[in-house]
Amino acid sequence: MNFTLNNGVDIPALGFGVFQTPPEQTVDSVQEALQVGYRLIDTAAAYGNEREVGEAIRHSGIERSEIFIETKLWISDYGYDQALHSFEKSAGKLGVDYIDLLLLHQPLTVDFERTIGAYKALEELLADGKVRAIGVSNFMPDVLHRLIDATDVLPSVNQVEGHPYFSQPEVQQANAEHGILTQTWSPMGGITSYRDDSSRSTFNDPVLGEIAAVHGKSPAQVMLRWHLQEGRSAIPKSVKPDRIAQNFDVFDFELGAEELAAIDALDTGVRSGPDPDSITLENFHRDIPEA
Ligand code: NDP
Repeated sequence: MNFTLNNGVDIPALGFGVFQTPPEQTVDSVQEALQVGYRLIDTAAAYGNEREVGEAIRHSGIERSEIFIETKLWISDYGYDQALHSFEKSAGKLGVDYIDLLLLHQPLTVDFERTIGAYKALEELLADGKVRAIGVSNFMPDVLHRLIDATDVLPSVNQVEGHPYFSQPEVQQANAEHGILTQTWSPMGGITSYRDDSSRSTFNDPVLGEIAAVHGKSPAQVMLRWHLQEGRSAIPKSVKPDRIAQNFDVFDFELGAEELAAIDALDTGVRSGPDPDSITLENFHRDIPEA
């Protein structure tokens, strides 16, 4: 299943995420994902595992052109020149000469000029054919509109926190007004388990459990199916082969309208990830190594 981006490029609807996957487990888990059928891999300069993602792709035996590689520039590399250089760092670690989708990882709202500069670098990379599509992550509607007003090329994707406990329908709506695909991070609510205590874990939610039982599926599969049916891309992460396979096995059942509505109703309006407005170079600085 694919979505078509607002620049005509196709993107697999369901991808594989590698945030918090240690470099030493990244090659195996990405290879496992490619074997069971994922064709979209989501990494980031700040994850420290772009090199291992590239290695897994090269050793998979699958044509580069059949795999959609997505990565993100970190705020410490914002500004026009720094962002152009940061693309070179990421492409070098991945071992590729083009990247399918390049995102700004976070808005730097306290220094929006640097954010705009970085986005203009993405526009340049797009024009030069070094990336096939560009986008943003964690841009709330007001900040997204500021970016759109100051730049020429609409983002194709806005990757945001999105799971049954924090589904951000207003963000999806604002994205849709510009033809921007909403891609959800922590799509199964992983962050509700590893950030809070696990008493509020989506994986143990009774409503999701009931729906899962009806379809003979797991709560994880129900959550992923819910995203796809509501028009969102999703990028689940796992390092466990059985879960990697399970999370991709979501194309043989369909949720009914009442089931979708019951999952929508689980939204608490409370985010688990950091407030995008709180991101500054002081509290979130990361040195992105050259190689
Ligand atoms: P997920 O919703 O993908 O959940 C992952 C967690 O759930 C892991 O702890 C994993 O453990 C566990 N898990 C995976 N599959 C199952 C299953 N079938 N049943 C039970 N537990 C399961 O959340 P993430 O936060 O990992 O987000 C996914 C991806 O989103 C990231 O890898 C990254 O690519 C992206 N992301 C982007 C962010 C951004 O700011 N743009 C922020 C955060 C994430 P185990 O590995 O042990 O299976």
